Amino acid sequence: MSQYNAIASVPTSTTASSQDVNPDNPPLILLAEDNETNIQTFSSYLTAINYRIILARNGLEAIAQAKANLPDIILMDIQMPTMDGLEPTRQIRLDPNLISTPIVALTALAMEGDRDRCLAAGMNGYISKPLKLKQLARQIAELLVT
Ligand code: MN
Repeated sequence: MSQYNAIASVPTSTTASSQDVNPDNPPLILLAEDNETNIQTFSSYLTAINYRIILARNGLEAIAQAKANLPDIILMDIQMPTMDGLEPTRQIRLDPNLISTPIVALTALAMEGDRDRCLAAGMNGYISKPLKLKQLARQIAELLVT
């Protein structure tokens, strides 16, 4: 577990202590991702550092799960079947309860302009695959305190 301790103590801001996951009320993460390997990797890692995880395997599920569960943060794969991650983001943003919920794009695309498209759709951040788990944890922690 020592590697996880190191993540929690990353000094990203002056309110570092509030970034620690409260074990009594762990933040709820909606992971919208269609790749089973990624689902297993991300959810086991994030669960190990005390987040709660709910899953969506396509864009429509992502919208439904977001509305039903009001997660604290949403990790949105951009490449999913039937609907990419941009359209669900736009629709989630239309819900008054989800206007300010942080949404982070997870994408294998590294093309110029992708970041702008994600931000224009209403996303707060952008992580390129293959993503580093520690980087993911740091970005989640930063978005949860803002
Ligand atoms: Mn995908």
